[in-house]
Amino acid sequence: MILSQKPAKQPLIRRFFRTYWLTISIIVVLTTASLLTIRWFTVTIDAATANRLAEAQREIAALDETLQQIIARNEAEEKARRLAVAAETAEVILSNPSNAASVVNPADCNVSDVRKDPGDIGVMVNKKHCIQPLSYAPSDLVTVRGATISAKVAPSFEQLMTAASAAGFPLSVTSSYRSYQTQVATYNYWVSVSGAAGADTYSARPGYSEHQTGFAIDFANASRSCSLSCFGSTAEYQWLQANAATYGFIQRYYAGKDAITGYGAEEWHYRYVGADVALDMKAKGILTLEEYWGLPGGTY
Ligand SMILES: [Zn+2]
Repeated sequence: MILSQKPAKQPLIRRFFRTYWLTISIIVVLTTASLLTIRWFTVTIDAATANRLAEAQREIAALDETLQQIIARNEAEEKARRLAVAAETAEVILSNPSNAASVVNPADCNVSDVRKDPGDIGVMVNKKHCIQPLSYAPSDLVTVRGATISAKVAPSFEQLMTAASAAGFPLSVTSSYRSYQTQVATYNYWVSVSGAAGADTYSARPGYSEHQTGFAIDFANASRSCSLSCFGSTAEYQWLQANAATYGFIQRYYAGKDAITGYGAEEWHYRYVGADVALDMKAKGILTLEEYWGLPGGTY
């Protein structure tokens, strides 16, 4: 019985497949179709998500650009507004002498009526001694080693620059001749920022700047990494203190002399007065031209 039962199993399986082949086939086909459909959905959804992500990134980039444009426009508008205020202030000061009587009337702005030839290296320029005429421009300007200066200053200036480099303290120039028109724009810009009283403490009014004579130079170290108030802490500044007078230059504004010169310390600003005067001042220990020439200074 056992032996005869075993071979009977084969026909049973065959019979089973013969009976259910259609059902099995349908199940296999449906399962495969389902798996393919799921796979298709996954791929499609992934692509859609990637598309949406890319689109979102594009929108963010566009918004960012718009924001940058708005910021730039606001900055430009603010700058234009300030310039307009400066221009208006300039007009008010220049067109109405009573606003700043001694500022705009050349006849009244040199209280001592001496040392008023702007082409002479002995000219006095401070808040009580304007340049006459106010819109004066030197006729002998030359540009040497990055400085635009009067030809009267050029040879000594070149010697000073050469000596400084040879001693290992090379210098550069950050500002030299400035025209009346430049000073109008500079001063009035600062008026728009700090008001006239504030601007007067650090910016000369047009016609009152030594830079307009071509006799003044603002120095920095050669790399310009240290200019203006930083310059006073450099070895180059120490070299200038020791040697500038030999070449006819003096530091014009020392600390503690505000009441006399009208300005706070400016370690970078040098005025050419000629070696005779500069060395004599040094020998006598006199730090200001006002004291050396016995002329008034201080505020306007
Ligand atoms: Zn200066």
